[in-house]
Amino acid sequence: MSIKENLEAVKQNIAATARRVGKRPEDIVLLMATKTVAPERIREAIHAGGHIIGENKVQEALKKYEVLKGEEAEWHFIGHLQTNKVKDALKFADMIHSVDRLSLAEKLDHRLQQEGRCLDILVQVNTSHEESKYGVAPEEAISLVRQIAGYNTLKIQGLMTIGLFTKDEVKIRKCFKTLKEIYDALIKEDIDRVNMKYLSMGMSGDYQIAIEEGANMVRIGTAIFGVRTTPDAYYWPSEKTDADRAEQR
Ligand SMILES: *Cc1c(COP(=O)(O)O)cnc(C)c1O
Repeated sequence: MSIKENLEAVKQNIAATARRVGKRPEDIVLLMATKTVAPERIREAIHAGGHIIGENKVQEALKKYEVLKGEEAEWHFIGHLQTNKVKDALKFADMIHSVDRLSLAEKLDHRLQQEGRCLDILVQVNTSHEESKYGVAPEEAISLVRQIAGYNTLKIQGLMTIGLFTKDEVKIRKCFKTLKEIYDALIKEDIDRVNMKYLSMGMSGDYQIAIEEGANMVRIGTAIFGVRTTPDAYYWPSEKTDADRAEQR
């Protein structure tokens, strides 16, 4: 199937699931996860009706951005962001989904102050409790959001998570329920400058479950572009690096 056909099929599935849970199809935002996908195929997807690109690695994203920046699309960063890549990430990113620690928020704020502008961000939560996944622990999420809200260049627009990789639907659903609970709690808290607009959860294998659990932004790669040849371990290291650990302390 072509990218266009895949995209249409995904959009139809999203629409059907949305209706089933009493939402309008247009309430669910589709982000195309484009890691490993070549610029010309991304262009094809944009022309076929995809509006948001999500990239995982700063250097890879920048290269593609240089080729595609004339296209009508939003660029989101969805991968782990090291503080030493902040400056480059801000060259292309319209939104960053993966803010998961104060040191990163501080670095982003510092750079944004220099540039004299604000940025939309999501706070990433590790709902699967997997050591290998990035994200703030669910118990610490609300406190982190409160602290990040202190940086006035950062506009918190919601939360993001990656569900557990398993065939066990109950366990996947539990991850999404956890994120939704934090989201609802934050709506209640009504913190200044914190806007709970997006709940970014769900990928090719689990986006229907995510929408059932309240997702209004899904990040889809494989179902649009086909199976990737580069292993995901390259994008989600199975072990955090020592630098990551040091930074999180
Ligand atoms: C790769 C990726 C996706 C999409 O994964 P697929 O299973 O290919 O749909 C979504 N979110 C993040 C953070 C990713 O890295």
